[in-house]
Amino acid sequence: MTAPTADESKLRADLVRIMRKMAASGLNKGASGNASVRLGDGMLITPSGVVPDLMDEESIVRIAADGSTAPGARRPSSEWEMHWHILQRREDIDAVVHCHSRYATILACCRRPIEPVHYMVSVTGGAEVPVAPYQIFGTPELATSVVGTIGKRLACLMANHGQIALGHTLDHAFAVAEEVEEQAAVYYGATLLGSPHVLTESQMADIFRRFEDYGQKR
Ligand SMILES: [Zn+2]
Repeated sequence: MTAPTADESKLRADLVRIMRKMAASGLNKGASGNASVRLGDGMLITPSGVVPDLMDEESIVRIAADGSTAPGARRPSSEWEMHWHILQRREDIDAVVHCHSRYATILACCRRPIEPVHYMVSVTGGAEVPVAPYQIFGTPELATSVVGTIGKRLACLMANHGQIALGHTLDHAFAVAEEVEEQAAVYYGATLLGSPHVLTESQMADIFRRFEDYGQKR
């Protein structure tokens, strides 16, 4: 393997950091979940079956533009094709995280999208968080299902599996995943209490307009 550039070394360190952050925040448990980031025409992705505590920069797997790995590299995450196809099709984002966070997974197991009961669902770039149709984990079919469902959004649920979130950076993708989990928990709780009031299409359109003018402007 050729020595990593400074940029690549930073991204490798970022991947390890984000996996530990997912574990520390409770979004992920054990060796499940994975993350990837664009590197040139290829990507870097977390290794298969390694818990974040034991993950280091060297264990991160580089996947070349033709989808190959270097001889001697670790096996990439079993979901590498899902990450790969998203990064290939979505030039507007550079990072992907996937996890089995509890409330997102509960809704995914019921195959229920997160409806817009709270305005922060808009962080995912859509008025609701849809559910990608079920496919067995680690297959090209799952990759196709997720790519088809997520569309131009930054997140979707995966039936009977978990959630996936995209971002400009790994930290951005993490923040989206964290918000998806929060929205899933809020929706779950509101549904248990009764019939939540779902925001209308025009109310959501107002929210998206308002967000255009939100935050620091310099
Ligand atoms: Zn998974």
